[in-house]
Amino acid sequence: MLNTEKLFPPESMSVLIVDDTRPNVLVLQRALNNTGYNISVAFDGEMALDLIPKIKPDLILLDVMMPGINGFEVCKLLKKDPAMKDIPVIFITAMGMPKDVLEGFEVGAVDYITKPFNLQEVCVRVKTHLTLSAAIKKLIQDSETDSLTGLFNRRTFMKKIENEAMRFKRNQKPFSLLFADIDFFKKINDSYGHAAGDEILIYISNILNTEKREVDQVARWGGEEFLILLPETNLKGAILHGNKIRKLMSAKPIIHEGQEIHITMSFGVSEYSENANIEKIIDQADQRLYLAKNSGRNKVVSVDV
Ligand code: GH3
Ligand code: MG
Ligand code: MG
Repeated sequence: MLNTEKLFPPESMSVLIVDDTRPNVLVLQRALNNTGYNISVAFDGEMALDLIPKIKPDLILLDVMMPGINGFEVCKLLKKDPAMKDIPVIFITAMGMPKDVLEGFEVGAVDYITKPFNLQEVCVRVKTHLTLSAAIKKLIQDSETDSLTGLFNRRTFMKKIENEAMRFKRNQKPFSLLFADIDFFKKINDSYGHAAGDEILIYISNILNTEKREVDQVARWGGEEFLILLPETNLKGAILHGNKIRKLMSAKPIIHEGQEIHITMSFGVSEYSENANIEKIIDQADQRLYLAKNSGRNKVVSVDV
């Protein structure tokens, strides 16, 4: 059996309780706190809507009848917001007519508990939905990323480029691609071992992922090849970014088990502008990377020869 407690420990999960009846909140808060969850509370819909984007709870226990905006409305608003829509909502309410329950599910709840509630039942339902939701999140994340480096995989990255190409249709702002490849990586593996090679891949991925603007996206395209998407960046900007990473890499060695390992990287850059297509600019960046390799490595190439 899958040990879900180990995979998704309660201490790593947070629950928001929303109820205007304070004794209810207290009872729920105590029971869920004892289970190990981090608990926050809101006493009406407005307070909940204010709090949710800030604390991003993993699950919301939501009363329906409250002064001001009611629970159904709160849920509807959450489900319209791309950043909030995946937070599971469980209604916990005195409204127990079949049509109420139906409405609860229709506005997007994952479960519906009627008052007076059985505390143990609330706890097991909360646990079930937290586990399911965490498992789905993990599955999605695993399917989108490379397991060694945590960077986007090729399939996910293609979708990011397609989105950017669609944005170009609307705003005509060019974007650029930067192909990056570690120089003589095979030699590094041969000299220091595959585990050291893996560590270096992780180290470089972290640099690529931190030395960037928030909107930039990074993928592990293949073995020791990375592709970086730079939205609203022309060729000139992409060359600058490539050179920044290139210099960072070559400026100081990576220390692995007390040994200094010198790494350089080569880059090929292309820009998506008028009449471009995705395959073409990926191919163009790849060809330019090839030119960088053939003309001495540790450089950024942005033209075709
Ligand atoms: P170049 O400068 O021309 O790019 O030379 P290179 O040696 O980097 O390129 P080549 O394509 O000949 O070899 C790539 C090497 O990358 C071979 C392979 O052992 C290594 N590699 C690919 N994926 C991984 C990985 O996941 N982990 C480790 N440790 N090495 C990897
Ligand atoms: Mg290489
Ligand atoms: Mg290669």
